[in-house]
Amino acid sequence: MTKTQALVLFSGGQDSTVCLGWALARFDHVETIGFDYGQRHAAELAARPRLLSAIKAGFPRWSAKLGQDHLIPLSAPRAIGGSALTESMAIEMGRDGLPNTFVPGRNLMFLTAAAALGYRRGIADLVGGMCETDFSGYPDCRNDTVQAMAKALSLGLAREVRIHTPLMSIDKAATWALARDLGGTALVDLIVEESVTCYEGDRTRRHDWGYGCGVCPACDLRAKGFAAYRIAAQP
Ligand code: ZN
Repeated sequence: MTKTQALVLFSGGQDSTVCLGWALARFDHVETIGFDYGQRHAAELAARPRLLSAIKAGFPRWSAKLGQDHLIPLSAPRAIGGSALTESMAIEMGRDGLPNTFVPGRNLMFLTAAAALGYRRGIADLVGGMCETDFSGYPDCRNDTVQAMAKALSLGLAREVRIHTPLMSIDKAATWALARDLGGTALVDLIVEESVTCYEGDRTRRHDWGYGCGVCPACDLRAKGFAAYRIAAQP
């Protein structure tokens, strides 16, 4: 039987770490790809190797499956500018109804680069943490967008590209529960301790849900999801 392989879009955040666990539970060989796109805070990128080493060391059934990590520079989003994730500006709602943390085309660029790397490495299955239930309403996280991308990439590469989005229709509380189901409390604890979600990249303030400024929309969502998960997990 041929070995099944996946390439996980792995940013070092909570969602992509759960996606990595999801892929390791399903595929024989899993590689990771991350992007240095000029994000203002390097905390997420710094979390990636810590999370990967901890998974290798602490999850024996997964460690042999975990393959190469690829960090790809992608300078277009920063050069284009205008987002609170790439420039020093306060997070607020834009006139288009989207928060200014939206980086236009970011996920589309990520998926394109991931599919191109997958092409080179013979990997047709991509896994990403896009989610359309989360409040931000980023249009490049919608299932329609992602599946249209899979079709465009399959056509453009003349090879089938499948994009798996295990978090697409679940909320943040369910994402924590999925982490527990995949890797037990050890995976939940690892995500709390090492993953970075905060838009400010804050690693100085520790909460029960992990590190973060505690006030940005990403921290707010992570905190509320963790609280709901804990209530649901009580016997
Ligand atoms: Zn924050």
